[in-house]
Amino acid sequence: MQTLRKEIQTNQGQSIVVAKFGGTSMADEVAMRRSAQVSMQRNASIVVVSATAGTTNQLLEVAKNAIESKEAQTNLLIDKIKARHLELAHKLEVADQTLEQLNGLFEELETLAKGILLLRDCWPKTRDGLVSLGERMSSLLFSECMSQLYSSQNETLKSVELLDVREVLATDDRHERARPNFNKIEILCQQHLTAKLPSTVFVTQGFMGRGPSGATTTLGRGGSDYSAAILAWGVDADVLEIWTDVPGIATTDPRICPSAQIISEISFQEAAELATFGAKILHPTTLAPAGQKNIPVFVGSSYDPDKGGTWIVSQIEDEKTPLVRALAMRKDQTLLTITTPKMLQTHGFLYQIFKIFNDYQVSIDAITTSEISVALTLDKTDASNDELLEELKRYADISLEHDLELVSLIGNRINHTPGLGEKIFNCLGDINVRMICHGASRHNFCFIVKKDQGAEAISRLHNGFITN
Ligand code: ASP
Ligand code: MG
Repeated sequence: MQTLRKEIQTNQGQSIVVAKFGGTSMADEVAMRRSAQVSMQRNASIVVVSATAGTTNQLLEVAKNAIESKEAQTNLLIDKIKARHLELAHKLEVADQTLEQLNGLFEELETLAKGILLLRDCWPKTRDGLVSLGERMSSLLFSECMSQLYSSQNETLKSVELLDVREVLATDDRHERARPNFNKIEILCQQHLTAKLPSTVFVTQGFMGRGPSGATTTLGRGGSDYSAAILAWGVDADVLEIWTDVPGIATTDPRICPSAQIISEISFQEAAELATFGAKILHPTTLAPAGQKNIPVFVGSSYDPDKGGTWIVSQIEDEKTPLVRALAMRKDQTLLTITTPKMLQTHGFLYQIFKIFNDYQVSIDAITTSEISVALTLDKTDASNDELLEELKRYADISLEHDLELVSLIGNRINHTPGLGEKIFNCLGDINVRMICHGASRHNFCFIVKKDQGAEAISRLHNGFITN
């Protein structure tokens, strides 16, 4: 019902749809043609694409091999990347001009690789230039694929244009994790895009942008979702669609729990919690720009566009909200307990502790405190930061428990529901819960269990709360 309502809304002609297609939706000729069909059917005005599946990793490998002076491997990888994109170009029967442009990108790739081989070094700025080639190649080929489709339909009201996203996606100069400059983006989107919408269909690159010095930047791995949300924000889109290889957001990982179901509607806050607490589907910060402007986000599968998907929206009517919407798990967690009698009836201790975490830029996921102890969870890599641990030891005794799993229940009335705790523990039965975090958010209840018990905990909770 909901999907239908939104579909009608977006097909009214004037609405602006931004659609993003991930790497698997660009994987080969068939995937590209199917994605082009989906874009056309959904009347997308801005189409943001990722590199073809696996290419970003290969480009990073090029840099790595070149730094290590492994010339043969470097060239082999470059040949693979070229061969794949050339094959795609031939299958798509692209125009000579497009082929020339593709060759230009190959040359850029070869030149950068040579430079890295020569210097045996690769700065983040160089790596950004190199890795952006993945999106630049896929978008070039995909825009041709879209043009062919539109002209085969005698669709003369729309023209397809390849947009260099760097014209509009202004960022700061933090290479490999650049942050968007929203003030500039708003102005640039007005200048370059808004007037031409919706008669022009822009095909553009995800993941990359341009820093203040003019250099290419990237937003961090998996950043194309974020790019799409930023552009949707920039043009005040009516809908943002994220097309991937699964038909929406599931109640939990189907590999853990086969009875997982697709969620038809979820709030931005719930989706953000879900992403933060382990669901792999969306980049955690992706949704913020869309949420800020109340732009509904649709997540669906480009392989099966008619199967429906998940709508992420600002407001969900209370009666439609299940108590527990989804369950997520994060593996490889460490529980760090910090104890000091000094904490008894004094102040400033927590400040000291958190300042240390801040100095080392380590993020904490879940935390509880007692009068003289603080227990918190860290990812495995952060927990092996010896300097951080040494610094903490100057103030308190610390102990570490490794190999734990963090299980979270995501919902909307989590801290306003009597009896919820009882039900959770009934479901868990004999699984020992090492630490609980509850009360800080109405959307989340999370707890820690031993390694290999997380999946069982999820299955039991899924049966108790969602499948029942
Ligand atoms: N191609 C980039 C990556 O693999 C960005 C993306 O796919 O979202 O990280
Ligand atoms: Mg991706």
